Amino acid sequence: MYTKLKSISTTIQKIPLKTPFITALRRVENVEFVRVEVVCENGLTAFGEAPATKAITGEDLESITRSIAKVKEELLGLDVRDALFLLHTFKIGSSAKAALDMAFVTLNAAQSKQTLLQYLGTQDYSPIQTDITISLNTVDTMLKDADEALQNGYDILKVKLGEDISHAIEVTKRVAKELPKARLLIDANQAWSLENSLLYVAAVQDLKIELIEQPVAAEDLQSLKIISKASKIPILADEAAFTLEDVKYIYENSCADMINIKLMKCGGVSKAVEILEYAREKNITCMLGSMLEGPISISAAFSLAFAYRDVIKYVDLDSPLLYKSSSSSLCGFAIKRNQIKPSVPAKSEAESMPTFA
Ligand SMILES: [Mg+2]
Repeated sequence: MYTKLKSISTTIQKIPLKTPFITALRRVENVEFVRVEVVCENGLTAFGEAPATKAITGEDLESITRSIAKVKEELLGLDVRDALFLLHTFKIGSSAKAALDMAFVTLNAAQSKQTLLQYLGTQDYSPIQTDITISLNTVDTMLKDADEALQNGYDILKVKLGEDISHAIEVTKRVAKELPKARLLIDANQAWSLENSLLYVAAVQDLKIELIEQPVAAEDLQSLKIISKASKIPILADEAAFTLEDVKYIYENSCADMINIKLMKCGGVSKAVEILEYAREKNITCMLGSMLEGPISISAAFSLAFAYRDVIKYVDLDSPLLYKSSSSSLCGFAIKRNQIKPSVPAKSEAESMPTFA
C-alpha cells in the first residue's frame, strides 16, 4: 500500500531580499537554497528545501547538493516510511537531511490524504504571529528600523546585536525606552564573551525584554549556564541546541531557560517533532526559528508552529517578509503583516506544491 520513491532531484533557487540581512555572523542579499523534488511511483510529488548557512550548520549549496546526491541511490526504490528511517542513519549535514525529511514527511501526510498541518495534529487554525528581524546596524538606523516596524504593525522585534557590547547596550536601552510598546527579543548570535554577556545582562535587567538569545559561543555551555543564572531575563539557546540530545543536555543541566528549534539544525520535521514532544513533556518554552529560508521549508515550519502552539511561544519565521517580491508564495499559507494563517487547509500540500517548482 505504500508507494515507492521513483526520483529525487535538486535545483538551486535564489530569491532576492528587499534589503540586506545582517547579523553578527554574516551579510546576505539573496535567500539561496537547494530545492529537492521527490517523486513517487504513483505520481505523488513533494518538495523540500535547505538554504546555505555555512556559518551555522557548516553546509553550503554545493555540499547540500552533494550530500543529497550521495544518499539518493540508497533511498530510491524504498517506500517513504523506510526512506525516512534510513535518512536519519546517514552521516550527512543537518540541512541536507532536513530538505529530504520535509519532503518525505509531506509524502507520508499526502498518502493519508492529509496536509502537513493535519498530519501533525493541528487543532487550532487561528492565526499565529511571527516576530520580525531588526538587522545589526548603527544605533540610529536600528532605532529607525524598529520604529518603522512597530508603525507597520509588527510588535515583536528580534533585535540582532553584535560584538561591540557598548553598542549592544545602547541599542537595547534606546529601543526599550523609546519604543515601550515593542516586545523585544535580543539575539547576539554567539558574539559575546562571558564577561561582556554579564555586563550586558546587568545593564539591561530592568528593561522590558522577553529573552536574550545565544550570547556566547555554541560550545560554551558552561558560560551559558552562568549567564542564565545571573539573568532575570530568560536566556534562550539557539546555536547551542541542534538535536534532541543537545536539548536534553541543556535542560537537564539548566544551561538555558528556553530553546530555539530550527529544521535546519535538527534535521527536519520528524526530528523537530521529537524535540517538541520532549519540550511539551518537560514544559520547556520554545521558539520555532529558521535560517533565511525559501517558501517551502518556511511553510513546513509554519505547520509545526500551528500544531505545537502550546509549546512554541515565539515564532521567528519572518523570511517571507524579507523577500523582495511577495509573489514568492508560500505553500498552503498566507502571511499578512506578522499574521500567518493557513490558506488552503483542506488541500494536500503535495498536490498544491508543483505550482512553486
Ligand atoms: Mg538565533
